Amino acid sequence: MTRQFFVGGNFKMNPITRKDKLALVKVLNDAELDPAVEVVVSPPALYLIPLAESIRKDIKIAAQNCYFKDSGAFTGEISPAQLVDAQIPYVILGHSERRTLFHETSEEVAQKTSAALAKGLSIILCIGETLHEREAGETGKVCQSQLKAVVDVLKKAIGGDSSYPKIVIAYEPVWAIGTGKVATPQQAQEAHADIRSFLSKAVSSAVADSTRIIYGGSVNGGNCKELSTLPDVDGFLVGGASLKPEFVQIVNSKK
Ligand code: PEP
Repeated sequence: MTRQFFVGGNFKMNPITRKDKLALVKVLNDAELDPAVEVVVSPPALYLIPLAESIRKDIKIAAQNCYFKDSGAFTGEISPAQLVDAQIPYVILGHSERRTLFHETSEEVAQKTSAALAKGLSIILCIGETLHEREAGETGKVCQSQLKAVVDVLKKAIGGDSSYPKIVIAYEPVWAIGTGKVATPQQAQEAHADIRSFLSKAVSSAVADSTRIIYGGSVNGGNCKELSTLPDVDGFLVGGASLKPEFVQIVNSKK
């Protein structure tokens, strides 16, 4: 099964100024990007629509979060229905910063995933262990339990297994995010293979085979090539380096 390579750029709460945003768009719009790669960038909510309007059409846009309700008295939130109306095709859910700083539980992430899928959005679903959990030998257990919350909700949802083509799983070890400490190729391959094997048991071998599992955590222009050759690494979710011209190199890491 060939899985299309996927590179996402998570801008987080950057850039601060609209001028910097324009510079970033210009770099991407002028770049020669591998046409075989699916590229998605995720700006702060404020920039979703202007970015969608100014960026080249072969780059898709993702929100960094959404709520599970369509509308109502939920100050500060945006809904899947609003993202669909704004023609934003992707949403990142369960990023470790949402889980740790904003205390989102795996059950809430699953509820949001189900609601976003029901509206037709595609999901970049983030999972990953802390350093403490890795050192305790719990990497597999933590990733599986974060993923199981979603699998369980989808089993009961309309559409069930047919939703999986709309999910990209981002394995992002928390200790590697924004730290400059990238997982070794062996650590990344092991975790990705383990996630795929869990999907095979918990859902089906067809879903395990076809689901893209991307790596995130201090990916940069220097380490992307080697990671991109790993059999179970189907792309990257990039934070810091997605704000720099080297993002182009990461998109083109298979070239
Ligand atoms: C991220 O925030 O998803 C991420 C992977 O960040 P960084 O690339 O900066 O480690």
